[in-house]
Amino acid sequence: MTIDSAGALALDAADPLAGFADQFHHPFDDTGRRSIYLCGHSLGLQPKAAAQYVEQELKDWQRLGVLGHHNAHRPWIKYHEQAAATLATLVGAHAAEVVAMNSLTVNLHLMMVSFFRPNGERNRLLIEKSAFPSDRYAVVSQLAFHGLTEAEHLIEVEPRPGERGLRTEDVVSRIEQEGNKLAMVLLPGVQYLTGQALDLAPLAAAARRAGAAVGIDLAHAVGNTPLSLHDWNVDFAVWCSYKYLNAGPGAVGGCFVHERHARSDLPRFTGWWGHDPETRFEMGPQFVPIAGAQGWQISNPPVLSSAPLLASLDIFQRAGLPRIREKSLALTGFLQQLIETRLAGLVDIITPAKAAERGCQLSLRIARPAAAAKRCHDLLSAAGVVGDWREPDVLRLAPIPLYNSYSDVLAAVEALSDAVRR
Ligand SMILES: *Cc1c(COP(=O)(O)O)cnc(C)c1O
Repeated sequence: MTIDSAGALALDAADPLAGFADQFHHPFDDTGRRSIYLCGHSLGLQPKAAAQYVEQELKDWQRLGVLGHHNAHRPWIKYHEQAAATLATLVGAHAAEVVAMNSLTVNLHLMMVSFFRPNGERNRLLIEKSAFPSDRYAVVSQLAFHGLTEAEHLIEVEPRPGERGLRTEDVVSRIEQEGNKLAMVLLPGVQYLTGQALDLAPLAAAARRAGAAVGIDLAHAVGNTPLSLHDWNVDFAVWCSYKYLNAGPGAVGGCFVHERHARSDLPRFTGWWGHDPETRFEMGPQFVPIAGAQGWQISNPPVLSSAPLLASLDIFQRAGLPRIREKSLALTGFLQQLIETRLAGLVDIITPAKAAERGCQLSLRIARPAAAAKRCHDLLSAAGVVGDWREPDVLRLAPIPLYNSYSDVLAAVEALSDAVRR
């Protein structure tokens, strides 16, 4: 099938989510041309309603001062709670299992304080070899904090030679092989570089059988792929909200703690916002944690950087993740099909070919020497297509079902086609 712009427009006309694109601000380039923005895996676009949400808090602060804690339109004392219901739906959890707080790497550290508990021989930590640098730094520093070393205690699983994705059976067998030496397993929901969505249910089950704690980094998965953290029995998960969740640069992140730990006496780093709100303001000396994920909060919520998250979650709640995923499968499938038919031999897709094994993003390798490949990305940017380049050789493009169209995808592939043929 050859698709022209009329074909793409027909697909757009039949798209039940097409109307949501208008609820986001779309960037323009220097020449005033609307960008083809396929970079929501890095920073999601701004929901138009975000400004009202932020202004509401500025107004309430102006109008009420300290009384805003209780009397603001959305009372600040419980501001974080407003995000819980939709976040819980997105990650497949009960509301009490999630909390919006801090940022991703901070949450990872806080979770590891509780869930990375090396004990005697059980002192190893398994991650994937091309883990996002911040995760690796966090993990290695936690090992050092326990007097353990990267060389001896960090296990890194990697794809087979010549392959780009991790195989579930390989990770499972490595977990089984490490067995009672394993204290924790940390895996991504969607791998940031390759766009591979891991099959988390069997991986989490293997870690639990081995007696290890299991944590998931959802940076590239939340708001992107379907998740069932509660049923998968993972111990914890962490995420940021500025990628697929469109909550703005540096927005407040999130955390999942499984219900079975809701009242646990695991060690944790505590602060007053994790304290039972009924007695928080009695200002007593003894810490009494809130049951559930909120018990891991430390400080009172950053209202101004949480406001855009609420604006965005409102859109997710209205669109619904099943419909978002359905469009995502079609839209990314469309990108795949165009690349395979128009750019065969020029561009390789390193993201798994099967739709179930990926989210929105396709990671591309341009079959050229490094400098020429990088130049294709520069040409693409000059043509108004926003994707991103990850050294040494990966171009990432993510069509976002809430605000990208089939026409966007076609225009991006046409620009890429020009760039790689120049
Ligand atoms: C984006 C991303 C982060 C970002 O960390 P912050 O603490 O939010 O700055 C961390 N880990 C992964 C895997 C990411 O993709």
